[in-house]
Amino acid sequence: MADSWDPALTRAKLRKMPNTLVCDALLDQAIFAGVGNIIKNEVLYRTRIHPLSTHGALPLRKLRELVEQARVYAFQFLEWKKAFVLRKHWLVHNRSRCPRHDIPLTRAYLGKTDRRSFYCGLCQKRYTQDSQP
Ligand SMILES: [Zn+2]
Repeated sequence: MADSWDPALTRAKLRKMPNTLVCDALLDQAIFAGVGNIIKNEVLYRTRIHPLSTHGALPLRKLRELVEQARVYAFQFLEWKKAFVLRKHWLVHNRSRCPRHDIPLTRAYLGKTDRRSFYCGLCQKRYTQDSQP
């Protein structure tokens, strides 16, 4: 991550793989170096994007937000880790209820990466090619 992170380049890489699920791309170290499973779950919750959305279906505004928040969260993650307060900041990872809605979160192993996902079916919108007008 760090200084070599280029948001425009990251978006360009994502646009070349429009049918890849966001939950898989966020774990792709060639695209989001330093992003792990916890960051994936937290960033998708923050940006209200369903993990089974595809990049090609995300509006540009959402795509920008996703890339920016992944960067922001990766830095916060390291600070919290150093201060031993990581878990305190988790909103959905390893949690059972949505902090926004107080309804049960969905837990599932998703995507090709088959990693554990935590998400809220109510506030995280699923963007797919089919949902485009
Ligand atoms: Zn929710």
